Formats: sequence, structure tokens, C-alpha cells
Amino acid sequence: MTHDTNPSMPDTPARPSPKITPLSAPYWEAAAQGRLLLQSCESCGKVRHYPRMLCDACYSAQTNWIQASHLGKVHSWTVCHHAFHPSFVADLPYTLVTVDLEEGVRALGRWRGAGLVIGDAVVAQFEQRSEGPELFFTASPRTE
Ligand SMILES: [Zn+2]
Repeated sequence: MTHDTNPSMPDTPARPSPKITPLSAPYWEAAAQGRLLLQSCESCGKVRHYPRMLCDACYSAQTNWIQASHLGKVHSWTVCHHAFHPSFVADLPYTLVTVDLEEGVRALGRWRGAGLVIGDAVVAQFEQRSEGPELFFTASPRTE
């Protein structure tokens, strides 16, 4: 009997996949193409992120999807030293960053880069993983 696993590493469970619903499907379909979509209220125009059923400004359920610029500024971050799912243990420590996107909403993703400074310009990108697209941020080339 043969094993494909590395004997020095214990078996790592698969990462959980996003739970795609009819509400979030447009977001995930665009993410699979590397594009960040945001909801925009059809009645009042307020942009929201993550996908939600109703506008929190006017309670309209009418939604448009808009293409985000992928540009934003660092709001804050945290360095994770504890994995809340065993599939992330090998990544420890990793950094999660909250970013104020140019469209006026805040997004959360992995940070890939050197030191972070609040207010620094960053760019949103997606990595295509077997379990689904993963949003991450890097420093904007405009500030490097
Ligand atoms: Zn609205």
C-alpha cells in the first residue's frame, strides 16, 4: 500500500468551500474570474458588501451588481496565531486585513506583503483555489 502524503506532515483536512447561495452567486461567479463585484441598491444607490438581501439605508430588495475598482486603503488588520479550522494550521501565522474600498464599503481578506500601515493604498485580488476563490490584498503599485 502506498501513500501520497508527506510522511513528515500529518494529513491536512481540506479547506472549507464557500457556501454559495442564490444571493451570493453573482459575487462568487465574478470572483472565479478574478473580479470583485459589489451590490448597489437599485433604489437609492448605496453600495454594500458582503451580499445582503436588503439595502440597510432604504430597505429595498432591488439590487444591481457593480464592478469594484479593486482599490482601497488599509483600515486595520490582525495577525492570526490560532487556526479556527485545521486546514489553516500550515499557514500560521497569517494576517487578515480590513480595507476601506473606494466604493465606500469595507472588505476583509488575507494580506500578502510586508508591513502594514493604516491608510496605505492596497489592491484586491483573488487566488483561485480548489475550494473556491480567496480574496487577498497586496500593496498598491502606486505607493511602492
Ligand atoms: Zn437603498
